[in-house]
Amino acid sequence: MISIQNVRKIFPFKEGQLTAVDDVNLEIKDGEIFGVIGYSGAGKSTLIRMLNGLELPTEGTITVAGRDISKIRGSELRKARQEISMIFQHFNLLWSRTVSENIAFPLEIAGIKGPERKKRVAELIRLVDLEGRENAYPSQLSGGQKQRVGIARALANNPKVLLCDEATSALDPETTDSILDLLVDINKRLGLTIVLITHEMHVIQKICHRVAVMEKGKIVEIGSVLDVFKNPQQPITKRFVQQVS
Ligand code: ATP
Ligand code: MG
Repeated sequence: MISIQNVRKIFPFKEGQLTAVDDVNLEIKDGEIFGVIGYSGAGKSTLIRMLNGLELPTEGTITVAGRDISKIRGSELRKARQEISMIFQHFNLLWSRTVSENIAFPLEIAGIKGPERKKRVAELIRLVDLEGRENAYPSQLSGGQKQRVGIARALANNPKVLLCDEATSALDPETTDSILDLLVDINKRLGLTIVLITHEMHVIQKICHRVAVMEKGKIVEIGSVLDVFKNPQQPITKRFVQQVS
């Protein structure tokens, strides 16, 4: 379970301060697909980056699987990050490495060698449906294929949580749907908890179980996707729901 308690993130800004995340409280259950939606600047990326220690909260606590993420350092933090993996809007692949080599990268770091590493890479390639493209370079792949490599790489060390920061925002609608189908498949098959942030209500509607709406650093509405769609409370939520109706 992910537990976010009284979390605030303040950045220095000009002569003053900017509160990017403002007193957020949230619990995300194991195996859940949890969506966070909000407009640009709402604080979504800052929030999700705190879940794997890429940013530290200014105040509050974040525990993932019982571990306080903001209090651990060094090898313990590296281990926690293996369990809380992330994919990105622009894929963040290594451009000079092939598909297989990109996927093998986190396994190399984890010290997995030789035949075992090869076997795991082959499994991951099958899981994301990229057989035949093992030796391609990222520049030779479509956007959807690049994100499949990103997903395989993120899953290499069997994480418990997958964080998705606008993972489909650079993709066309059809490719978006195929990546979302893959995420649902992974959630069902591996029991992985998925936290995804987006500004597209379609993404929330298609795969999330629950959703939180963020505005100016705060969660202004939260509920099951069914309830939020049926009965949105806040003006901002109504605008998002209108996107897809
Ligand atoms: P988008 O949809 O555009 O990705 P977002 O909801 O992910 O937006 P964040 O990236 O979390 O928003 O940013 C929230 C606020 O915090 C913004 O005003 C941003 O400028 C500010 N911010 C984010 N990261 C930093 C940083 N490292 N230093 C200073 N300010 C930051
Ligand atoms: Mg963002």
